[in-house]
Amino acid sequence: MTVALLSDIHANLVALEAVLEELPAVEAIWVMGDTVGYGPDPADTLALLRERRATLVAGNHDRAVATGEGLQLFNAAARTAAERHRSWLGAADRDALAALPLTLEPASSYAICHGSPRDPLWEYVFDARTAAVAMAGLPGTRCCVGHTHVAATFRTPGGKLMINPGSVGQPRDGDPRAAYALLDVIGASVDFRRVEYDISETQRRMRGLKLPEMLADRLAFGL
Ligand code: ZN
Repeated sequence: MTVALLSDIHANLVALEAVLEELPAVEAIWVMGDTVGYGPDPADTLALLRERRATLVAGNHDRAVATGEGLQLFNAAARTAAERHRSWLGAADRDALAALPLTLEPASSYAICHGSPRDPLWEYVFDARTAAVAMAGLPGTRCCVGHTHVAATFRTPGGKLMINPGSVGQPRDGDPRAAYALLDVIGASVDFRRVEYDISETQRRMRGLKLPEMLADRLAFGL
């Protein structure tokens, strides 16, 4: 069983379309949060994921857009974008975002969440030691996360595995191409992928919508 792991799409519809375009046949699409925030197309991004029957959990940006929770923790540009998304989205989309679960177990021994099992909305995991502690309370042995916008796998001393596919819509590892991963669920092997997309088109939409300029600029650098 192969699953597509997508995270931190951040309303970058052009990047999501490029990923879905080249995606091989998969049994499921798991999305580890931050589907909205930052980018130009929150409603169309949510609609496309619904159409593809993707499984979503909540990210900190999703929650902030849906309910305003955590907005005070954002920097000015992130807050501006989240407030715009909140005003652009209809009540049905906001309610759907607010209702997203923090953690799901979409397959045996797998959990998915945005930050970490210990702190699903906010914890950044950048190393195996943190992954081990953050997964300590988890009944299963494998966990898929997002939030850092940097692709990684962490194998803990206890034999647990944490997988982060990186970010579709705003990569931060210096490679501006959209990031995602293919997971062989049974074998727990991960194939990290990168896809070129029309970054200038996403930037054009963001500037047209008067989103903060630095949010558009950074996409060209993958930072
Ligand atoms: Zn994010």
